Amino acid sequence: TIGMVALDAAGNLSGACTTSGMAFKMHGRVGDSPIIGAGLYVDNEIGAATATGVGEEVIRVVGSFLVVELMRQGYSPEAACKEAVLRIVKKKPAKAKEIQIGFLALNKKGEHGAYCLHPGFSYACTTGEKEEELIKGKYYF
Ligand code: ASP
Repeated sequence: TIGMVALDAAGNLSGACTTSGMAFKMHGRVGDSPIIGAGLYVDNEIGAATATGVGEEVIRVVGSFLVVELMRQGYSPEAACKEAVLRIVKKKPAKAKEIQIGFLALNKKGEHGAYCLHPGFSYACTTGEKEEELIKGKYYF
């Protein structure tokens, strides 16, 4: 999945994501990316979030919506992403060891963060003033 979240000069949030799905997926499988609230969610009052990894698990916790709602409650983008990952771990602790899930979030103030289950998830950030920087997402296992 490629997920992007952005804040423009006028303070408006936006987001997009695209995926080719999982390898060897069943014919007709949809995944989380095209489902608003799962693979992507933007609330212009609060923040934007997107997900990558095993879409079925992301859908189960309505992951990107969850991340944005946690930011609404005051969580930082990274803390919100972490909490969403922890929900998935809590539901299926054994399975969580074998799968990858990552969330990326940006709030209305321009703060951003990410969290994933296993190492290997990083994201690029640019402000227009600074050169693009690659940031490693923190992880659980
Ligand atoms: N989230 C995608 C899906 O489940 C897979 C991916 O992240 O590449 O379809």
